Amino acid sequence: MLCRWILSVRKNYRPVKYHNWRHALNVCQTMFTVLKTGKMDNFMDDLEVLGLLVACLCHDLDHRGTNNAFQTKMESPLAILYSTSTMEHHHFDQCVMILSSDRNNIFQVRDWCVVHRTSIHILPVCNSNSGLEIVRAFVKGVSVNRSFYRTINANDLTRKI
Ligand SMILES: [Zn+2]
Repeated sequence: MLCRWILSVRKNYRPVKYHNWRHALNVCQTMFTVLKTGKMDNFMDDLEVLGLLVACLCHDLDHRGTNNAFQTKMESPLAILYSTSTMEHHHFDQCVMILSSDRNNIFQVRDWCVVHRTSIHILPVCNSNSGLEIVRAFVKGVSVNRSFYRTINANDLTRKI
């Protein structure tokens, strides 16, 4: 089932120059390094780690190679559907759509809250103007307080920078 899910995620990335499947893999590998080499996994349980890696693989799903400002100016259907954080909402909805589809639900129902709580922090990062700073603030916060990420989201982190 995990292989099927990974192939489904890959299929839902477009062949754009940057926000493509290779980029998603790079982000996932970087997070894996942060978790293992940086020992951040000491502060999280296995399900939270899986949620984080899933979020990394899904964080730019169906990216069109254009940013939110472009979507808004073009009055694209996505911008009409989501008036703020257009692409971030779309990436998240694509992620949920794949996880909810037949034979792609790699999580049990009871796991959803943990996965949602974990993934909601990482999904908005890439399209943010200060994505790297958000990741740094996230890692720093978790290293200081294990439950940090449970009480804060990326928008809160942005305000702290
Ligand atoms: Zn990205």
